[in-house]
Formats: sequence, C-alpha cells, structure tokens
Amino acid sequence: MNVHDSERIAGLLEDAGYVRAAEDDDADLVVFNTCAIRENADNKLYGNLSHLAPEKTRRPGMQIAVGGCLAQKDKDTVLRKAPWVDVVFGTHNIGSLPALLDRARHNEEAQVEILDALEAFPSTLPAKRDSAYSGWVSVSVGCNNTCTFCIVPSLRGKEVDRRPGDVLAEVKALVDQGVLEVTLLGQNVNAYGMSFADPELPRNRGAFADLLRACGDIDGLERVRFTSPHPAEFTDDVIDAMAQTPNVCPQLHMPLQSGSDRILRAMRRSYRTTKFLGILDKVRAAMPHAAITTDIIVGFPGETEEDFAATLDVVERARFSSAFTFQYSPRPGTPAATMPDQVPPEVVSERYQRLIALQERICLTENRNLIGSEAELLVVADSGRKSANTGRLTGRSRDGRLVHFRADDAAAAIRPGDVVVTTITDAAPHHLMADGSIASHRRTRAGDAHELSRTPMTAPVGVGLGMPGMGPAPMPEVASTGCSSGACGA
Ligand code: SF4
Repeated sequence: MNVHDSERIAGLLEDAGYVRAAEDDDADLVVFNTCAIRENADNKLYGNLSHLAPEKTRRPGMQIAVGGCLAQKDKDTVLRKAPWVDVVFGTHNIGSLPALLDRARHNEEAQVEILDALEAFPSTLPAKRDSAYSGWVSVSVGCNNTCTFCIVPSLRGKEVDRRPGDVLAEVKALVDQGVLEVTLLGQNVNAYGMSFADPELPRNRGAFADLLRACGDIDGLERVRFTSPHPAEFTDDVIDAMAQTPNVCPQLHMPLQSGSDRILRAMRRSYRTTKFLGILDKVRAAMPHAAITTDIIVGFPGETEEDFAATLDVVERARFSSAFTFQYSPRPGTPAATMPDQVPPEVVSERYQRLIALQERICLTENRNLIGSEAELLVVADSGRKSANTGRLTGRSRDGRLVHFRADDAAAAIRPGDVVVTTITDAAPHHLMADGSIASHRRTRAGDAHELSRTPMTAPVGVGLGMPGMGPAPMPEVASTGCSSGACGA
C-alpha cells in the first residue's frame, strides 16, 4: 500500500513540474513515505532525517517532506524532533504535498497538515509507476476490522471502496500502456462492496468476485493477483471466480496470524482454525496447484507453549508455499500493547526459530514437488549481481514463485517484462531453478517499455470524495500544528 502511495506521490510531483533526481544528484527535495507497521520505524526515520541535517544546512533551499503512517501518528512530533523538516503530511491528504511544499517555500516556515479523514481516493491523483510490466491498483483504502495488534485502522481510517468502474478503468489504463500484471490492493479485499463511497451503488457482497471476473474480460491483461483477503470474510464465490477466470493467478495470500483459536480471539480475528483450513481445502479442490502464502505472528501476549504448538500444527497441515513470519512486538496505540502476559523476547525468539525451521522444510518439500514441471515466467527487473555471476535471469511464475532460469545465448534478447516458458530443474526453500533450455520466449510491449526505461503514468481515475454525486462527506478536520497529544486519528 505504501509503495503504491509512493507512486502517487511521484506522479503528483511530476505533474507539478518536479523531475526525478538521478541517484547521485543532490536532490532539491527528499520525501520520506513512512510505514509504522514494523518495529523501529521511528528510529529509522529520525536516523535518516539526522543524516540529512548537515545537507540541509549546506543547502538551505533544499526541502524535506515526511508523509505516510508514521507522520500520521507522530504529527508535529516530527518537527519537534527534526525541526529542519519542511513539510509533514498524513495518509489522508497526500494530494496536498505540492501545495504544502510551495507554502513552506513561500512562507519560509514548516507546514504540518494531517487530516483525520480521507480527503480523496489516492486514485484521484496521477501516479508515476515503478514498473513497466506490473502495476498496483487499489480497490479500497482503510479497514473496518480491529485486530488488536494492528495500527492500520487508526492510521488509515475506516474502509472506503472505489467504484468497480473506476478500478477497471485504472486497470485498463495500465494495460493500454503495456502492463501485463495487476495486483488489486486492499486491507481486506473480501469486504469490498460493503463500503462504497458512492451512495448510489448498492452494497454487494459479491462485488470482489465480480471484479475478478471483469478483469478476465480485459484484453492484454495476463495476470491478476490480489492482496490481502481476510479469512473471516473469504467466500466461495471468490474461489469460483479465481478458478474460472483464466488470467487470475493461482496464488492466494491468506493471513493465518495464529493457529490457536484462543489467541485468534485475543487478536480479535473472527475466524477459527477449522474455518481457515477449510478455506485452503476448498481453494485446492478448485485450483490444485494454487500457491498459498500467509502471515504469522509469534509470541502474541498470552501465547503459551500449547498455543504455539497449535500454530505449528496448522502450519504443518496448511502446506504454505511461503510465510511472512513476525516476532510480536508491541505497537504503541494498539490494544495488544498493554495486554498482560507479554511473552519474554527470548521465548518469542526461540519459538520463532522453530517456526522458521518448520516452514523452511515445508517450502523446500513443496518446491521440490515442482521439479520437472513447466513454468511460464514473467521476467523481472533487477535480477541482481547473483544473476550476473551465474548467467541466470529471474522471473515470477503464475503462482508467484521466484524462478532463476538459465538463458545462455538468449539472455541478451530477454528483457524484464518479457514472458518465457521453461522447465523447473531444482528447488530451494525460497526459489526455484530452471537450468534447462528455454521452451519459448515472447517479446512483449512491457519488455519494449522497460528497455526504453518507460514506466506508465496513470491519470487520475474517478472523482474525489465529497464531489457532487458522491454524497455528503464529512468536513475533514485539520489537526492544528499545536497538537501533540498523539490522540488525533488514533
Ligand atoms: S484486517 Fe486486521 S491486520 Fe488487516 S489491516 Fe485490518 S485491522 Fe490490520
């Protein structure tokens, strides 16, 4: 979500006449788009800002802006800790950035503007995309759930859904510029359709499945992915739409978080493990080769050895193709941060190592099962030094797995954004290898665009919240620059 917001910020700035600085240039403007979901985000931010302080002294005309979740959380604390910052803006008003930069320059005074409600869908802003072949498209922003470990609802607000027509128009705009793969984005895509901003649109529980099927009708769109679904609201119509829409990839990210029902309750996650495993069974019945990934938190407050054993048990049964695993650490402002029975860090760490060992074994077994199978790969950029040394390029298979493949003589002709078909010859826990010959190589428009260093620029799609026809919107409240309680928006 933040990476995509950064594309919006880049688009906005380019629209306002800014030009991207070359890596080694002295940039006139540095924008930090911060994330608050991981531990130490604030240390990282303030460390980076300190690093820039001497540069700002050397070139006072240079501007520094801080946006994103941490800015939304810290508000004017950012200025108190780093008074050389010029602009602080929140998650709800990234569209204000160019105006705030102008005002800071004109008034020679730092500007802080944090809104408590969404000003406009980020999609009503232009976006300068990072990739020529793969694009993000938001279906919604915010989240109506209240998971006790999560800071997102307090920083991103209640869920607001875009109109399906706007989502599809943006997908088409990307495909028209050569993009082959689109990832639909939302904190909880399965709730899509229940919180349309447009009051004229009827609430529709089947809206996400309909959206997937509609993506299937877009010529030139080869791969559709989405993230993240929520197990509590995941319905069979989405499984059917995935299985029946050829360009929807056989890949599902299904966050488990814990395998203990007791801990799920404490996390305020409203599904239980039986339901979770039942969803996986249905997905695999409809799409036998689907790759299912997950998120797991180890050491949530109150987690006992018995609870953790239940997580290991579910992981063993679920056969995830990969897992994003996290050691629980408290996020100030979340209910879990003040729960009793915080698990000692050494216990969390020891459990975490056991989970990693189990998941690595499963990853390797699952990947080895693919040796000998054919894979269609979308070649990705930045294969890195490893590829230069080994002569391999890298691509992503339809199920989302990373595959390093040997291209030999054909390597020079294969560009990121092209599509190759090859056979898997070896496996490691986190990637596959294909060292045989390439069965086919298709040059694509995305590959042409990448070769020319051209990435899509998408124009604003849809109308802003509060525009005529969108129904009344609450007047956004602007947090005063004097507020330092940290309570606004939390
Ligand atoms: S579903 Fe839970 S974890 Fe996901 S964004 Fe919403 S509150 Fe956070």
